[in-house]
Amino acid sequence: MPDRRPLIAGNWKMNGLRADGTALARDLAGRLAAAGSAGFDLLVCPPATLLHAVGEALAGSGIALGGQDCHAAEKGAHTGDVSAWMLADIGCSHVIVGHSERRHDHGEDDAAVRAKAAAAHKAGLTAIICVGETEAERDAGEAEAVVARQLEGSIPQGADAVDTVIAYEPVWAIGTGRTPTVADIAAMHGMIRRRLHGLVASPDSVRILYGGSMKPGNAAEIMAVADVDGGLVGGASLKADDFWQIALSV
Ligand code: PGA
Repeated sequence: MPDRRPLIAGNWKMNGLRADGTALARDLAGRLAAAGSAGFDLLVCPPATLLHAVGEALAGSGIALGGQDCHAAEKGAHTGDVSAWMLADIGCSHVIVGHSERRHDHGEDDAAVRAKAAAAHKAGLTAIICVGETEAERDAGEAEAVVARQLEGSIPQGADAVDTVIAYEPVWAIGTGRTPTVADIAAMHGMIRRRLHGLVASPDSVRILYGGSMKPGNAAEIMAVADVDGGLVGGASLKADDFWQIALSV
């Protein structure tokens, strides 16, 4: 079994002003320092406006910084967008791409997500590529086929276990308090692992995160599932206590 160090990633979404973001970052940095060592990697993905301040608050902490999206181009006439190179320049090591909220709110399809992930790789970032079915797709028995199609369409050529992380986030579980059964998570993560063969180099070393209503009360049983290598945590990542408890559940 390859060594896949768990990754606990906080997706702050469009939340936080500078005071909140830096206080949360300092709180987490303090907890990690007090723990001495940890059996997991921690990552926070604040909104773009907070990257600078949060990056400063995290300096030397060992907690990684990530963006929530990037444009596929390096620079140019793309008003309102942020490039992967800009994220790298401000200290990010990771970027989330293809989150279902981006796919839904901004009409991003698999080809767009693949282009963003490729840009992230070129800029030296690890891309966290999100996949996940809607409730209607699950009810129709199509969940695995949908996720398989998203994987094939969204992972760029040449991806490997260092520059790519997969996050399985069932759309109906995001922000709803509902989660799949551990059996359903196990089946999906097992399918994703099998599908990664042929799509990435060293597929058995790629980390596959679960995301969707993860909280302290359910994290331990979800993290214990085979092929769950950490979490992409939304709402619960905005509270230091909850995020830290989730990290300690690995
Ligand atoms: P949630 O969000 O933990 O609030 O459900 C997860 C995500 O969207 O990444």
